[in-house]
Amino acid sequence: MAKKKTDKKKWAQDLPEAVKDLETKLTLSRKKKLSPPQERSWAEPYKIKMVEILRMTTSKEREKYIVEAGYNTFLLRARDVYIDLLTDSGTSAMSDRQWAGIMQGDEAYAGSENFYHMEAAVQKYYGYKYVVPTHQGRGAEHILSQLTIKKGDIVPGNMYFTTTKLHQELAGGKFADIIVDEAHDANSTHPFKGNVDLNKLQKIINEEGPEKIPYISLEGCVNMAGGQPFSLHNLKALRKLCSRHKIRIMLDATRIAENAFMIKKREKKYANHEISDILREICSLTDGATMSAKKDCLVNIGGFLALNDQELYKKACNMVVIYEGLHTYGGMAGRDMEALGIGIGESVNENHLRSRIGQTQYLGQKLLDYGVPIVVPVGGHAIYLNAKEILSHIPQDQFPAQTLTAELYVDSGIRAMERGIVSAGRNPETGDHNYPRLELVRLTIPRRVYTQAHMDVVAESVAVVFAKKDKIRGLKMTYEPKKLRFFQARFSKLRDG
Ligand SMILES: *Cc1c(COP(=O)(O)O)cnc(C)c1O
Repeated sequence: MAKKKTDKKKWAQDLPEAVKDLETKLTLSRKKKLSPPQERSWAEPYKIKMVEILRMTTSKEREKYIVEAGYNTFLLRARDVYIDLLTDSGTSAMSDRQWAGIMQGDEAYAGSENFYHMEAAVQKYYGYKYVVPTHQGRGAEHILSQLTIKKGDIVPGNMYFTTTKLHQELAGGKFADIIVDEAHDANSTHPFKGNVDLNKLQKIINEEGPEKIPYISLEGCVNMAGGQPFSLHNLKALRKLCSRHKIRIMLDATRIAENAFMIKKREKKYANHEISDILREICSLTDGATMSAKKDCLVNIGGFLALNDQELYKKACNMVVIYEGLHTYGGMAGRDMEALGIGIGESVNENHLRSRIGQTQYLGQKLLDYGVPIVVPVGGHAIYLNAKEILSHIPQDQFPAQTLTAELYVDSGIRAMERGIVSAGRNPETGDHNYPRLELVRLTIPRRVYTQAHMDVVAESVAVVFAKKDKIRGLKMTYEPKKLRFFQARFSKLRDG
């Protein structure tokens, strides 16, 4: 322990000791040693140039708004939200350089200069040969699924993502979960819960035959598992197995820069590698990628399909003109493609990733300190509250995670998202709810948008709701859309008895 008594003389005589003490206070760290530069507090590698004023509301107003929204946070008006943690999708703050790029939009219908800038960035940072722009990630998923999946095919993946799985099903395929078991356990501290279980994949190959598997759908920082990364060690083994059976690996690259950062932090062998090298190595072990640029790439709209196979690329170019737009804009304005090209470069900057993921970890640690059950280890883009454990008295078909999002909103105007039984939808064969093991509420952190003080408010609000959990009642679904129901479903509060 540093000495409590620090009179001036002592201070001068014993400088290192005093500096230690100061350091301890500044970093809020319980460590007594001075931290080497890489272990000190993260801080934003930017400063704020413009602010957006938020409207503050009362809990009484919020009670009214949530009823009007059918207890679905997707149906709230953004103006009624204080801290918006619904999603990190399209909610990033762009840099001054990206905004400058917006002013250089070349809005030619064909061959916009901005397309070539974006294409060059994809080739440089991800290393794929061909790029087909799309309006956002699902546009790329649609094209890939339609071109590669036949009726009766199986698409194995490291846990499903809502739009990805739906496009696979609409193309006639069936999704098969091959993620490691630890991913379904909110309390497992496995550092790579996004890994593929090769035995599960081998079993599918044996039973169905490799010709029924159009590709492996591999996601970085697996969203539905809590933002959990896969390791390069695992991907290399997966590549070996897939090459033996001539099966393609298609990467869902939406949060792949964040996955690369996690590899650097958690996979010893890569501790001294540049993020951009890790990223290129990941991509080089896959055959192509779908990208929702609204996440890692720091833009508000956009996406692409990246490929190495020229034949597939030609087919994709043919299809993109039907559903998205010409193959040199694919649904994006020229200015959006310019901002995207710049955003890709910024997204692999290690200082950016350190503060981005540092902020998420900061919120996670605060919640753990309050004793709130969350998914561990904390992922890259979000904190996932374990609603199944927090509201253990509410049965899953009374939507505990949906309930928790509504309670949080009323408490403090924080908007979160359900990632549980509502998101999991129904089994297309039996018509029954899918009952996922994970019943979570996602607090998603937009990139470069909120401060550490906002995170403090979020943690305090979650702690307050957690403290009164036993008084909270579940919900009843009163309107259910046929597909992707979580976006528009409506609920009402269940009463006593
Ligand atoms: C957001 C997302 C998508 C879909 O992308 P959109 O841009 O929303 O269409 C696909 N996969 C993952 C992992 C995502 O997070």
